[in-house]
Amino acid sequence: MQDFEARREIIKIALQLNSTGLSAGTSGNVSVRVKGGFLITPSGVKYEKLLPPDVVFMDMDGTAHGHFAPSSEWRFHRDIYKNRSHAKAIVHAHAPYSTALACLEKEIPQFHYMVAIAGAKSIRCAPYAPFGTVELSEAALGALDGRRACLLAHHGLIAYADNPEKALTLATEVEVLAQQYQLVLQMGEPKLLSDAEMEDVLHRFWTYGDNAQKADETKRTKPKLTHHPRATLPKRR
Ligand SMILES: [Zn+2]
Repeated sequence: MQDFEARREIIKIALQLNSTGLSAGTSGNVSVRVKGGFLITPSGVKYEKLLPPDVVFMDMDGTAHGHFAPSSEWRFHRDIYKNRSHAKAIVHAHAPYSTALACLEKEIPQFHYMVAIAGAKSIRCAPYAPFGTVELSEAALGALDGRRACLLAHHGLIAYADNPEKALTLATEVEVLAQQYQLVLQMGEPKLLSDAEMEDVLHRFWTYGDNAQKADETKRTKPKLTHHPRATLPKRR
């Protein structure tokens, strides 16, 4: 069996969709890009019963190879992989707070700096289209333009990343933001951060990721860690 580890990773993340409350039952799905196509959770099989051979391999032309049918929502996974070369893993969930906002066809605006975690100043909500359709793929791709996560109107959320663990983390962040935004809406009119403030956060996230990687490399090659000059605290005046 090919891609055994990737299949095990998909099952682990699918189980976490249930245990974290992000998706109940089999309503969510998880996929990972592999050579020649992608692996995806099958349709209608309880995650706790899934074994690595049950995970379905699909070609990029949409042909499934496996003893179960792929998730009925395989199409937007395929289309994201086709159109976003940097997408390596996708998590889709009918997470309660994200779905509630999506049922109002509301996006998550720049009310909190962490919104930038999805890659832009807002997390958009794609217009409604029935599950499994070309129209839903197109709507999702439009909402994901410049972003790694979006809401789907009257449906749920999508998050993609370099690996399944990171895609799940991003999906969880989106769900927490959706919950916080709803708390704010209950208390009044949200105050939004300015475009300049969000651009600053986006820059800081980018720099932080860059430096974090550099720090890891430094640890591997130099036991005595030297501080990056840009990481030093400003002098008190
Ligand atoms: Zn769905």
